Amino acid sequence: MSYPSMADSSGRTLGAEEVEAVTRVLRSGMLSSVWGKEVRALEREMADLHRVSHAVACSSGTAALHLAVAAVAPDPGDEIITTPISDFGTVAPILAQNAVPVFADVDPDTGNLDPVAVAAAIGPRTRAILGVHLFGAAATGLREVADAAGIPLIEDCAQAWLTRYPDDRLAGAVGTIGCFSLQQWKHITCGDGGLTITEDAALARRMRLFADKGWPRDDGVRRHESFGVNYRMTELSGAVARAQLTKLPGVLADRRRTARRLVAALADLPRVRVPADPDRHAWWLFPIVLDPPLTNREVADRLVRAGIPARAGYLAEPLHCAPALMGGPIYGTSRYPLTVPPAERVPTYGWGTQPNAERLITQTLLVIDWNEHYTDAHVDEIAKAVRAAVTDA
Ligand SMILES: *Cc1c(COP(=O)(O)O)cnc(C)c1O
Repeated sequence: MSYPSMADSSGRTLGAEEVEAVTRVLRSGMLSSVWGKEVRALEREMADLHRVSHAVACSSGTAALHLAVAAVAPDPGDEIITTPISDFGTVAPILAQNAVPVFADVDPDTGNLDPVAVAAAIGPRTRAILGVHLFGAAATGLREVADAAGIPLIEDCAQAWLTRYPDDRLAGAVGTIGCFSLQQWKHITCGDGGLTITEDAALARRMRLFADKGWPRDDGVRRHESFGVNYRMTELSGAVARAQLTKLPGVLADRRRTARRLVAALADLPRVRVPADPDRHAWWLFPIVLDPPLTNREVADRLVRAGIPARAGYLAEPLHCAPALMGGPIYGTSRYPLTVPPAERVPTYGWGTQPNAERLITQTLLVIDWNEHYTDAHVDEIAKAVRAAVTDA
């Protein structure tokens, strides 16, 4: 059986609406969001969808996270606590703002930050918590830790469009700032794009300025109020993103329906753990956590041989072991900003420091690609293959 792929139209929801959107923008002759109407409309629609006051569009999910980190304004050498299991786009903005990424360990079942570990990692220079809703499962308990410490929570929702917390609040609207990605492989896409949402007008303004060279644009004067770069989204991307946003509820309903079917089909299998709460999960991927003696590499190999789009571990190594952080230069020949704090405050990276995250990546975590166009037949084939792969083991 062939599986819909996010790499082509079989696994995407790009259709007549997006064609019309692109055509509309091209015909208008205005492709820049500084003067056009599409990106501004997208921001309003995104804010309304999440029932928050402000949204700021930008050129990628990584850019969205960079806007958020820049807005919470760490001093060079300040610390931001984040997770070892995510896209590198979660960590890069921390370094780009000259802050120090401090990793905390994750829950062994979900791969999401463990709030107890986060609380233990907070120190005098902690400036924010940057949580990730991994694969679309709500990372709970972080708002409480952030509030107790009096620091902002940034939510990375790149894999968590319309994820809901157990109390039904939408991911992204619980923290101080929520960040989203419109990259090719996310739930909805315009190729590359990003969005941030917030209730805080001052933070929204800082993010807007940071994405546009610190140029307010509201008084007709060419003045640069603060340090910023150019992370603007184009009108072409914005128009496509608007069409995609209208399809988001359908994408989530379809992914949840088939994920529920797989959850039910695997429920009686020993040593196979699947996410709880399938109706609040966004199912960017379908994660499975295996108990020993099963190992993710063996089971993934069997699934791949059965034609199932599955992979062991999600990452080659957790982010706290990424070569980009492990001893090599960061800026020029220097390890700045890791050279700013006193030696005893420089976090230790590398194997052995975040055991739960390391075990997930190397031994227990298996991910199966998921898609809104899966049929019951796809799910049944996956269920059968997983059953065979873990019983032969
Ligand atoms: C994709 C992703 C990012 C980065 O988004 P880009 O649009 O690719 O820059 C950041 N965090 C997570 C969790 C992601 O999945």
